[in-house]
Amino acid sequence: MQTSKGHVKLIVKDGWVYCPICGKGKLLKIQSDTTVRNLPRKCKRCGQESIVNIPAPEPESTATSA
Ligand SMILES: [Zn+2]
Repeated sequence: MQTSKGHVKLIVKDGWVYCPICGKGKLLKIQSDTTVRNLPRKCKRCGQESIVNIPAPEPESTATSA
């Protein structure tokens, strides 16, 4: 059964996106400004595929002093 695909809450810790199914496998390395949209990543630990979504962070009143 693969009914729960798509709407699982991702675990993001120490710059890594962890598998939401087993919670142990690293799916993707991200940075503070990384954005990901609907990227399927397969967990090496449990072999389950999860859709990674990293929304853009809230823009913090960036002073455009260019
Ligand atoms: Zn996993």
